[in-house]
Amino acid sequence: MDRGKRNLTRNNREPPLIIKPPKKPDHEYKRRGLLGEGGFGRCYEVETKEGKILAIKVVDKASLRNQKNKDKLLSEIAIHKRLNHPHIVKFYDCFEDQSFVYLLLELCENKTLAFMNKKRQRLTEPEVRYFMLQLLNACEYMQRQFVIHRDLKLANLFLSKDMKIKIGDFGLAAQLEREGERKKTICGTPNYIAPEVLFDQTNGHSFEADVWSLGVIMYTLLFGKPPFQTDGEVHQIYRKIKELKYEFPSHITNVSKEAKKLINLMLILEPEKRLTIQQILNHEFFSLGMTPAIIPVSALNIAPCFD
Ligand code: ADP
Repeated sequence: MDRGKRNLTRNNREPPLIIKPPKKPDHEYKRRGLLGEGGFGRCYEVETKEGKILAIKVVDKASLRNQKNKDKLLSEIAIHKRLNHPHIVKFYDCFEDQSFVYLLLELCENKTLAFMNKKRQRLTEPEVRYFMLQLLNACEYMQRQFVIHRDLKLANLFLSKDMKIKIGDFGLAAQLEREGERKKTICGTPNYIAPEVLFDQTNGHSFEADVWSLGVIMYTLLFGKPPFQTDGEVHQIYRKIKELKYEFPSHITNVSKEAKKLINLMLILEPEKRLTIQQILNHEFFSLGMTPAIIPVSALNIAPCFD
């Protein structure tokens, strides 16, 4: 199965300290700290001449010798650069030199929801409403643009300086050419992947696959671990997904029945029966209690108090 992790020729080459786009001689980016390393390359903090701090994703051309990797990067760039939404990582520019391809992105200072989830274990329902509403808005926008993300997971949900969600990593995204088109490529991340992506090669998949992942995300934020997680191998996760085998842990008693009902309606095996983004937005879970307008950075470590 193609999980989209591009078989990298691991390479230790570092990009220059001063990165200059060849076609824009008046621009330059001073490389600062390493933000992280991914399947495709490295991401650094950079400073513009005006003192603005951005993120730059650097892909070594050595890893693009095979056509498949090259096509994937081109597709990621083509899709991401067209998107412009407050809850999607901004794509500012891309350029290349002899050795690297560079993607200039909005910097997300507060890491990802995966990091937050690890620190906090479980978020409160007001926080879950806050993050889910931002995610749903971004997903609604992507659907209007005919884009399926196909790898929505906590590690791809970045957090800005003011703790707003920014969806990132469009490496597995698909751009539909026409309404009703279905995709057939198997891709995603085991814990979050929708059943029809894995098992329905006849009918393929579409936007509903992102809704499934949203269900997994909401469950994970509230209960601390993904619903289909096993200690065993990946195929055991796939079996649990196929059989819709998940439960709400009985020792966690403070999650509302409305939250559980909503998760149940996102994790439905048949994609056509799953809630749509609009139906999720109208669900009673979102009117059940308060939704904070802002969340403090301290929420990365300790539950905020909303009284
Ligand atoms: P992959 O696509 O394999 O996940 P990326 O190159 O997109 O890898 O990202 C690698 C790491 O760099 C991420 O896990 C994250 O820690 C960091 N990162 C990526 N994009 C940003 C960003 N816009 N702002 C801050 N950190 C980022």
